[in-house]
Amino acid sequence: MLSFCPSCRRSVAAAFVLAMIAATSATSARCDRQAVLSQLAQMDRQQRDAAAWDKRRVQLREGFLKGAGLWPLPKQGPRSVVRHSLRAHDGYTVENVAIETLPGFYCTGNLYRPEPGERSGPGILCPHGHFKPLGRFRSDQQIRCAHLARLGATVFSYSMVGWQDSRQTTHDDPQVLALQTWNSLKALDFLSSLDGVDPQRIGMTGASGGGTQTLYLSLLDDRVRASAPVVILYPWSAPEGCCRCEGGLPIMREAHTNCIEFSAAVAPRPQLIVSVGLDQTYDFPQVGFPFIRRAYEAYHAASQAENVHIAKEQHDYGPSKRGAVYLFLARHLGMRALPEDPSRIAIEEPTRMEVFNAAHPLPAGAICGSAAVAKAIASLRTSTPVRAN
Ligand SMILES: [Zn+2]
Repeated sequence: MLSFCPSCRRSVAAAFVLAMIAATSATSARCDRQAVLSQLAQMDRQQRDAAAWDKRRVQLREGFLKGAGLWPLPKQGPRSVVRHSLRAHDGYTVENVAIETLPGFYCTGNLYRPEPGERSGPGILCPHGHFKPLGRFRSDQQIRCAHLARLGATVFSYSMVGWQDSRQTTHDDPQVLALQTWNSLKALDFLSSLDGVDPQRIGMTGASGGGTQTLYLSLLDDRVRASAPVVILYPWSAPEGCCRCEGGLPIMREAHTNCIEFSAAVAPRPQLIVSVGLDQTYDFPQVGFPFIRRAYEAYHAASQAENVHIAKEQHDYGPSKRGAVYLFLARHLGMRALPEDPSRIAIEEPTRMEVFNAAHPLPAGAICGSAAVAKAIASLRTSTPVRAN
């Protein structure tokens, strides 16, 4: 089924997208565009200063977490970490890593690191978005993570729930938005705790649904010091038909908000928003970015908000978008800024990147199925805090 809402930003033919843009009025209705634009106009009339934005951010965080069933936010860190199959490539290493984010429930991913011996550097979270079929295993995700590691960052590329080797429940689980948000928070704990990672220099970037995860975690946690959501920001709140991992729980309802206000509330932390001419972000520079920039202006930090708009590009995380993000992250996280050199990046086979498979089964005590996962997330409110190992 075709959908035009946040999860529909997968590869689409240019001609089709142009037709979609021509049909803006119908599309907008499905994505509650007019309602969001009205909300933004009303908010603009409040002329918030920095103190008002500080107060509003507290409301937005509380509303989000209540909607996700994560309020008050539990304090538990990752319970254990599974690591294996370290590979050395040209200037970086890759390892298969899973974090036990709930009792018996794992967030699977790959950890890309600079060559051993590098001094302490930044950490960067890289969710993959709804790019089927390979998600975090696709080439452009591997190139992005490997290049950032070659620039000196430790990078955690982690799967959406129900994708690749994350098979303990499906991506249409009713709790998937809460699970992915919790996984992002625990991935941030994990990354920040690693030797060689400076917890004051944590960044995050992803495209499409990975951009949504970037937006959500950047809103919720100040430890994300620089963020770059790609091809995801346009006026939407809780449109019908979007993926459950983005709109399946009422995270915007209590605070009467939308994704543009979420992005604005990231101010004054550095943020680069990438939009394109050939998907739903086609008019973001006119309809979204001015509101966000005004929030940064309230903090006298207008230069910390950037929009790179690439008029002739489509919905992906291609080389020109990656190039803009590398420069942004290098500037704000204190990394080298060099262009990609694909000849020095190894594209690995997906089976080599899996944390769990026939050769590496899930640990004893692993849970399975939606009911067991729901019980595990409910246990967060009563279990004893534990530390990461
Ligand atoms: Zn999803």
